[in-house]
Amino acid sequence: MLNIILMGPPGAGKGTQAVRIIDEFHLPHISTGDIFRENISKGTELGLKAKAIIERGDLVPDDLTIDLVKSRLSQEDCANGYLLDGFPRTIAQAEALKKMGPEIGRAVNLVVDITVPDEVLVQRIAGRRVCPKCGASYNVVSMKPAVEGICDRCGSALIQRKDDNPESFKIRLDNYYAQTAPLVDFYKAEGLYHHFDGMEGLEKVSAQIADLLKKTL
Ligand code: AMP
Repeated sequence: MLNIILMGPPGAGKGTQAVRIIDEFHLPHISTGDIFRENISKGTELGLKAKAIIERGDLVPDDLTIDLVKSRLSQEDCANGYLLDGFPRTIAQAEALKKMGPEIGRAVNLVVDITVPDEVLVQRIAGRRVCPKCGASYNVVSMKPAVEGICDRCGSALIQRKDDNPESFKIRLDNYYAQTAPLVDFYKAEGLYHHFDGMEGLEKVSAQIADLLKKTL
Protein backbone atom coordinates (compact mmCIF):
# COMPACT_ATOMS: atom_id res chain seq x y z
CA MET A 1 0.00 0.00 0.00
CA LEU A 2 1.25 3.50 -0.81
CA ASN A 3 -0.22 6.16 1.47
CA ILE A 4 2.23 8.93 0.68
CA ILE A 5 2.86 12.47 1.84
CA LEU A 6 4.86 14.59 -0.61
CA MET A 7 6.52 17.59 0.99
CA GLY A 8 9.03 20.29 0.13
CA PRO A 9 9.22 24.09 -0.21
CA PRO A 10 7.37 25.85 -3.06
CA GLY A 11 9.37 25.28 -6.25
CA ALA A 12 11.22 22.13 -5.11
CA GLY A 13 9.56 20.05 -7.82
CA LYS A 14 6.66 18.53 -5.87
CA GLY A 15 4.09 19.15 -8.59
CA THR A 16 6.27 17.63 -11.30
CA GLN A 17 7.12 14.57 -9.24
CA ALA A 18 3.50 14.22 -8.14
CA VAL A 19 2.30 13.87 -11.72
CA ARG A 20 4.95 11.20 -12.41
CA ILE A 21 4.07 9.26 -9.27
CA ILE A 22 0.32 9.24 -9.90
CA ASP A 23 0.80 8.25 -13.55
CA GLU A 24 3.18 5.39 -12.71
CA PHE A 25 1.55 4.09 -9.53
CA HIS A 26 -2.09 4.95 -10.33
CA LEU A 27 -2.78 6.80 -7.10
CA PRO A 28 -5.35 9.57 -6.56
CA HIS A 29 -3.54 12.92 -6.34
CA ILE A 30 -4.81 14.91 -3.39
CA SER A 31 -3.35 18.38 -3.66
CA THR A 32 -4.86 20.73 -1.10
CA GLY A 33 -3.61 23.70 -3.17
CA ASP A 34 -5.42 22.37 -6.27
CA ILE A 35 -8.61 21.77 -4.24
CA PHE A 36 -8.50 25.32 -2.86
CA ARG A 37 -7.85 26.81 -6.32
CA GLU A 38 -10.74 24.81 -7.78
CA ASN A 39 -13.02 26.15 -5.02
CA ILE A 40 -11.81 29.69 -5.72
CA SER A 41 -12.53 29.43 -9.42
CA LYS A 42 -15.99 27.97 -8.74
CA GLY A 43 -16.71 30.67 -6.15
CA THR A 44 -17.70 28.20 -3.39
CA GLU A 45 -17.97 29.21 0.26
CA LEU A 46 -14.58 27.58 0.96
CA GLY A 47 -13.10 29.35 -2.05
CA LEU A 48 -14.35 32.72 -0.85
CA LYS A 49 -12.83 32.12 2.59
CA ALA A 50 -9.48 30.99 1.17
CA LYS A 51 -8.96 33.35 -1.81
CA ALA A 52 -7.26 36.35 -0.17
CA ILE A 53 -5.24 34.16 2.19
CA ILE A 54 -3.85 32.06 -0.64
CA GLU A 55 -3.14 34.97 -2.96
CA ARG A 56 -1.04 36.73 -0.34
CA GLY A 57 0.88 33.50 0.38
CA ASP A 58 -0.43 32.67 3.84
CA LEU A 59 -1.73 29.34 5.08
CA VAL A 60 -5.43 28.57 5.17
CA PRO A 61 -6.55 27.91 8.80
CA ASP A 62 -5.92 24.39 10.08
CA ASP A 63 -9.57 23.57 10.89
CA LEU A 64 -10.75 24.27 7.32
CA THR A 65 -7.85 22.38 5.78
CA ILE A 66 -8.10 19.37 8.09
CA ASP A 67 -11.86 18.95 7.45
CA LEU A 68 -11.26 19.16 3.72
CA VAL A 69 -8.58 16.47 3.80
CA LYS A 70 -10.58 14.20 6.07
CA SER A 71 -13.55 14.18 3.75
CA ARG A 72 -11.39 13.74 0.64
CA LEU A 73 -9.29 10.91 2.11
CA SER A 74 -12.43 9.12 3.28
CA GLN A 75 -13.59 8.72 -0.31
CA GLU A 76 -13.51 5.27 -1.86
CA ASP A 77 -10.75 6.02 -4.39
CA CYS A 78 -8.25 6.46 -1.52
CA ALA A 79 -8.85 2.95 -0.13
CA ASN A 80 -5.92 1.48 -2.07
CA GLY A 81 -3.42 4.29 -1.60
CA TYR A 82 -3.08 8.01 -2.23
CA LEU A 83 -0.59 10.79 -2.81
CA LEU A 84 -1.12 13.70 -0.45
CA ASP A 85 0.56 16.81 -1.90
CA GLY A 86 0.76 20.01 0.16
CA PHE A 87 -0.72 18.52 3.34
CA PRO A 88 0.19 18.52 6.18
CA ARG A 89 1.87 21.91 6.35
CA THR A 90 1.73 22.45 10.13
CA ILE A 91 2.33 20.25 13.16
CA ALA A 92 -1.37 20.58 14.07
CA GLN A 93 -2.27 19.18 10.64
CA ALA A 94 0.23 16.34 11.02
CA GLU A 95 -1.21 15.47 14.43
CA ALA A 96 -4.73 15.51 12.99
CA LEU A 97 -3.67 13.24 10.13
CA LYS A 98 -1.95 10.88 12.54
CA LYS A 99 -5.24 10.56 14.42
CA MET A 100 -7.63 10.41 11.45
CA GLY A 101 -5.45 8.10 9.27
CA PRO A 102 -5.99 4.89 11.28
CA GLU A 103 -9.61 5.92 12.11
CA ILE A 104 -10.55 5.98 8.42
CA GLY A 105 -8.19 3.15 7.44
CA ARG A 106 -5.80 5.47 5.62
CA ALA A 107 -2.66 5.67 7.81
CA VAL A 108 0.34 7.31 6.12
CA ASN A 109 3.23 4.92 5.49
CA LEU A 110 5.71 7.06 3.55
CA VAL A 111 6.89 10.68 3.60
CA VAL A 112 8.82 11.96 0.58
CA ASP A 113 10.56 15.30 1.07
CA ILE A 114 12.27 17.13 -1.81
CA THR A 115 14.51 20.09 -1.00
CA VAL A 116 16.29 22.73 -3.07
CA PRO A 117 18.29 25.83 -1.93
CA ASP A 118 16.28 29.06 -1.58
CA GLU A 119 18.02 30.93 -4.41
CA VAL A 120 17.00 28.19 -6.85
CA LEU A 121 13.41 28.19 -5.56
CA VAL A 122 13.11 31.93 -6.30
CA GLN A 123 14.20 31.44 -9.92
CA ARG A 124 11.98 28.42 -10.46
CA ILE A 125 8.87 30.14 -9.08
CA ALA A 126 9.44 33.26 -11.21
CA GLY A 127 9.34 31.19 -14.43
CA ARG A 128 6.73 28.67 -13.35
CA ARG A 129 3.60 28.05 -15.42
CA VAL A 130 1.00 25.51 -14.36
CA CYS A 131 -1.89 23.63 -15.88
CA PRO A 132 -5.09 24.61 -14.05
CA LYS A 133 -6.77 21.41 -15.24
CA CYS A 134 -4.35 18.53 -14.48
CA GLY A 135 -1.85 20.28 -12.18
CA ALA A 136 1.26 19.69 -14.32
CA SER A 137 4.05 22.28 -13.88
CA TYR A 138 6.38 23.85 -16.45
CA ASN A 139 9.05 26.55 -16.53
CA VAL A 140 9.49 29.16 -19.26
CA VAL A 141 13.28 28.71 -19.10
CA SER A 142 14.11 25.24 -17.85
CA MET A 143 11.08 23.06 -18.54
CA LYS A 144 9.14 24.32 -21.54
CA PRO A 145 6.08 22.49 -22.85
CA ALA A 146 6.29 21.16 -26.43
CA VAL A 147 3.91 23.91 -27.60
CA GLU A 148 4.30 27.27 -25.85
CA GLY A 149 1.55 27.92 -23.32
CA ILE A 150 -0.12 24.50 -23.73
CA CYS A 151 -0.04 21.58 -21.31
CA ASP A 152 1.74 18.51 -22.79
CA ARG A 153 -0.31 16.21 -20.61
CA CYS A 154 -3.89 17.40 -21.20
CA GLY A 155 -3.78 20.19 -23.82
CA SER A 156 -5.15 22.96 -21.55
CA ALA A 157 -3.85 26.56 -21.63
CA LEU A 158 -1.13 27.14 -19.00
CA ILE A 159 -1.39 29.95 -16.45
CA GLN A 160 0.85 31.74 -13.96
CA ARG A 161 -0.41 31.28 -10.39
CA LYS A 162 -1.47 34.48 -8.62
CA ASP A 163 0.73 33.57 -5.63
CA ASP A 164 3.82 33.04 -7.83
CA ASN A 165 4.83 36.70 -7.44
CA PRO A 166 7.90 37.80 -5.41
CA GLU A 167 5.89 39.18 -2.44
CA SER A 168 3.64 36.14 -1.98
CA PHE A 169 6.54 33.81 -2.61
CA LYS A 170 8.53 35.37 0.24
CA ILE A 171 5.60 34.88 2.62
CA ARG A 172 5.14 31.28 1.44
CA LEU A 173 8.82 30.51 1.98
CA ASP A 174 8.84 32.15 5.44
CA ASN A 175 5.73 30.14 6.36
CA TYR A 176 7.37 27.01 5.04
CA TYR A 177 10.41 27.38 7.32
CA ALA A 178 8.39 28.47 10.34
CA GLN A 179 5.48 26.03 10.07
CA THR A 180 6.22 23.18 7.68
CA ALA A 181 9.95 22.44 8.11
CA PRO A 182 9.35 21.17 11.71
CA LEU A 183 7.48 18.25 10.11
CA VAL A 184 10.85 16.79 9.10
CA ASP A 185 11.63 15.90 12.73
CA PHE A 186 8.02 14.86 13.32
CA TYR A 187 8.18 12.27 10.51
CA LYS A 188 11.74 11.20 11.31
CA ALA A 189 10.46 10.32 14.77
CA GLU A 190 7.64 8.33 13.14
CA GLY A 191 10.21 6.45 11.02
CA LEU A 192 8.45 7.49 7.78
CA TYR A 193 10.77 10.20 6.48
CA HIS A 194 12.74 9.99 3.20
CA HIS A 195 14.76 12.90 1.83
CA PHE A 196 15.54 13.64 -1.84
CA ASP A 197 17.88 16.32 -3.16
CA GLY A 198 15.90 18.27 -5.79
CA MET A 199 19.18 19.57 -7.28
CA GLU A 200 20.00 16.13 -8.64
CA GLY A 201 17.67 16.74 -11.56
CA LEU A 202 14.15 15.71 -12.42
CA GLU A 203 14.93 12.32 -13.95
CA LYS A 204 17.28 11.17 -11.21
CA VAL A 205 14.96 12.25 -8.39
CA SER A 206 12.02 10.67 -10.16
CA ALA A 207 13.92 7.34 -10.47
CA GLN A 208 14.99 7.46 -6.82
CA ILE A 209 11.41 8.09 -5.66
CA ALA A 210 10.07 5.31 -7.93
CA ASP A 211 12.64 2.88 -6.41
CA LEU A 212 11.51 3.72 -2.90
CA LEU A 213 7.84 3.32 -3.82
CA LYS A 214 8.45 -0.05 -5.48
CA LYS A 215 10.33 -1.27 -2.41
CA THR A 216 7.48 -0.13 -0.17
CA LEU A 217 4.81 -1.92 -2.20
P1 AMP B 1 0.22 24.74 -3.12
O1 AMP B 1 -0.45 24.55 -4.44
O2 AMP B 1 0.47 23.43 -2.41
O3 AMP B 1 1.48 25.56 -3.23
O4 AMP B 1 -0.79 25.54 -2.19
C1 AMP B 1 -1.21 26.84 -2.54
C2 AMP B 1 -1.72 27.58 -1.33
O5 AMP B 1 -2.88 26.90 -0.81
C3 AMP B 1 -0.76 27.66 -0.15
O6 AMP B 1 0.19 28.71 -0.29
C4 AMP B 1 -1.74 27.90 0.99
O7 AMP B 1 -2.21 29.23 0.99
C5 AMP B 1 -2.90 26.99 0.60
N1 AMP B 1 -2.70 25.65 1.17
C6 AMP B 1 -2.46 24.50 0.47
N2 AMP B 1 -2.32 23.46 1.31
C7 AMP B 1 -2.45 23.96 2.56
C8 AMP B 1 -2.36 23.40 3.86
N3 AMP B 1 -2.10 22.09 4.03
N4 AMP B 1 -2.57 24.22 4.93
C9 AMP B 1 -2.82 25.52 4.77
N5 AMP B 1 -2.89 26.13 3.58
C10 AMP B 1 -2.70 25.37 2.47
